[in-house]
Amino acid sequence: MLNGKTFVLLAWLAVPGAGATRGQEPAIAAQIPAPDDSAQPARSQTTPLRPEHRFWDKKNAWLFAGVGASRALDYSSTLNLRRRGNREILVTNDLVDNHAAFAVVEAAGTAVSMGASYLFHRSGHHKLERWTSMVHIGLATSGAVRNYGLKTVHPTTAP
Ligand SMILES: [Zn+2]
Repeated sequence: MLNGKTFVLLAWLAVPGAGATRGQEPAIAAQIPAPDDSAQPARSQTTPLRPEHRFWDKKNAWLFAGVGASRALDYSSTLNLRRRGNREILVTNDLVDNHAAFAVVEAAGTAVSMGASYLFHRSGHHKLERWTSMVHIGLATSGAVRNYGLKTVHPTTAP
């Protein structure tokens, strides 16, 4: 379930207007601030043009929790799918079968999503910031539902 979502996230990062933050993508994970980043430099001194919210406000906290939860659901549903004999088509079977590595991939997906939200927040795109999480949750959850919904493949071994 990785490639499609990663593509969508990259497409979001390429949204016109988010260009000011382009070129920083490789360091996204490192830019996620500590939960108490309330003291943004220079922000509090200038008169805010629009109501600015803290990055770690309640809404984002819930959205990120949702992204993490949907990723966990994707993780477990994909493993469930593998146990039933279907092939995970978007991630190689080798990666999925290496559970630790696959868990890291899912966690990295969450981190990249939060990083994208943070970049949107910093560049003033607060709607896109929220939508990044919401779209991510939708994609991961629908992927998990699809995983659970696929018919179990029974090996056709003759008795
Ligand atoms: Zn924001």
